[in-house]
Amino acid sequence: MSGHTDMVLVDDNGMRIDGRTATEHRPIKIEAGVLKNADGSAYVEIGKNKVLAAVYGPRECHPRHLQNPTKAIVQCKYNMQAFSVSDRKRPGTDRRSIEISKITAEALENVVLTELYPRASIDVYIEILQANAGTRCAGLTAASVALADAGIPMRDIVPAIAAGKADGHVLLDLNKEEDNYGQADVPIAIVPSTDEIVLLQMDGNMTREEFDKAISMAVNACHEVYDIQKDALKRRYSVQKGGESNE
Ligand code: ADP
Repeated sequence: MSGHTDMVLVDDNGMRIDGRTATEHRPIKIEAGVLKNADGSAYVEIGKNKVLAAVYGPRECHPRHLQNPTKAIVQCKYNMQAFSVSDRKRPGTDRRSIEISKITAEALENVVLTELYPRASIDVYIEILQANAGTRCAGLTAASVALADAGIPMRDIVPAIAAGKADGHVLLDLNKEEDNYGQADVPIAIVPSTDEIVLLQMDGNMTREEFDKAISMAVNACHEVYDIQKDALKRRYSVQKGGESNE
């Protein structure tokens, strides 16, 4: 998010370097139930981002001092594989992955009916296999499909997408170049049934008008992501009913 480049990120016709208009998201593919050993799982592609989410639980909470006698806790581990970016990422936990794990768990706690499982833990693992900006949104989108796939009771599922600003234009779903050389990035996740915002971050600067435009663009796009999440779960359910499985 340097805000400075000689690169033209949006041309005179309003077209972006990957051929999208300002309000278009990258192609999205979602598949539910891709892992045999997990209680629930999902695979998500958003443009060049490739993300796998696995859910285990509700199960006994470890370490035990984290147990809550009134409800389950949602624990999340977001991890970027060393090979997920072109310059090898140093493996393991860093400040960024701790932050993303925390905000993802907090977003999901808004929809999971945690009060049904006192003392339990619902464990969500997000593995970024390929990264191209927007991985926290892709991870959260995958995690909520994986939770539904695990049969965990929820008020709704959570779609996420970012909007931002590059070359002075408010744009939906920034790619890596737009994220690197743009002026702002605003990832958002919502509860579609109420339009409640459960994740909102901002990196960079925007005017109040641009911010409002970015929010409304991202909220609209979240509803499109939501439809793709539901389709993935419906496909998974119809495959199971037909007696097939991915095992
Ligand atoms: P998000 O992936 O949610 O947009 P960031 O804005 O922090 O999160 O990162 C933007 C992009 O920068 C990532 O998607 C990834 O392509 C790249 N990136 C992030 N961390 C690293 C890293 N440690 N090494 C190389 N590239 C990274």
